[in-house]
Amino acid sequence: MKHNRVLIVYTGGTIGMVQDENGSLHPFALDRIYDAVPQLRACSYGIDSVMLDHIIDSSNMTPALWVDIANIIEREYDRYDGFVVLHGTDTMAYTASALSFMFKNLGKPVVLTGSQLPLGMLRSDGRENIICALEIASTRLVSIPEVCIFFESHLYRGNRSTKLSAENFDAFESYNYPSLAKAGINITFKEHLFRPMPTGKMEVRKQFDTRVAVLKLFPGIGPEVVNAVLHTPHLQGVVIETYGSGNAPTDEWFISALDDAIRRGIIILNVTQCKAGSVIMRQYAASCDMDRIGVIGGGDITIEAAVTKMMYLLGNFPDDKQHVRDRLGMSLRGEITEN
Ligand code: ASP
Repeated sequence: MKHNRVLIVYTGGTIGMVQDENGSLHPFALDRIYDAVPQLRACSYGIDSVMLDHIIDSSNMTPALWVDIANIIEREYDRYDGFVVLHGTDTMAYTASALSFMFKNLGKPVVLTGSQLPLGMLRSDGRENIICALEIASTRLVSIPEVCIFFESHLYRGNRSTKLSAENFDAFESYNYPSLAKAGINITFKEHLFRPMPTGKMEVRKQFDTRVAVLKLFPGIGPEVVNAVLHTPHLQGVVIETYGSGNAPTDEWFISALDDAIRRGIIILNVTQCKAGSVIMRQYAASCDMDRIGVIGGGDITIEAAVTKMMYLLGNFPDDKQHVRDRLGMSLRGEITEN
């Protein structure tokens, strides 16, 4: 019987560290993965691995590196049945979101995972995470045409995920969409929650426009801060983090500042500061003015997906602002709940 093959793409992060004899942590060479996780020798699928040119703490992640990861997957797409990306936890939700937008018609699993403790430490959560991610990426039980994050015992849609703990092993959550699978004695897949299998050919779009900003509201925020952000040179888009179901101050100066930015061609997307729930424009009077002047409601999108989606759309459709605006308000890869 032909065995499934999985490609591990190693980018860095805590998972890839081992302790030397003095107790210091260093990135391990990927060819030593079988020493770090000997259980992999017993698995029934084939594993190959490749690493980025430079192994990084994911705090140094950039759109250029998202393209490097996507290039590897694109190049090897036909040779493998699934992909596991080993990644630092800090920006994993951003990378998972960015990759989800880049891959159009993705028909295979791309599973990101990492760990809170390095693989080389006795109590590491990395072994479980890597083994489960590989099992999922190589499974023949179901087809998972998605970019996902596996962590602790759950498989989440990547662009729905958020890092919620700097301490606990269950470090990720998907507040607005159920987990796609749960790993217990068996791995239970919830197939009805997966993205549909695409019919078209897989394509990768690789442009990102980073001329975006995030404006987080807080009681007391004043015109100096808001105007400084909205007058950032060459700014193309702003994700505004509002309160509750998408509410913001109704002060004249605030609405005028947003209105002026929109008239200058800046696209503004309204995302809630709440972890769970959705922006509902016009539910309260406190979002009516924003709706009137053309702020776009982001629904229940995460901040990570909102920022990467804006960079992706501005990068790939630079001459069609209306297209960008329309796409921001709808689901491209399952990142927003549509009613
Ligand atoms: N700082 C690390 C990173 O994101 C944390 C981790 O991997 O858990 O690369």
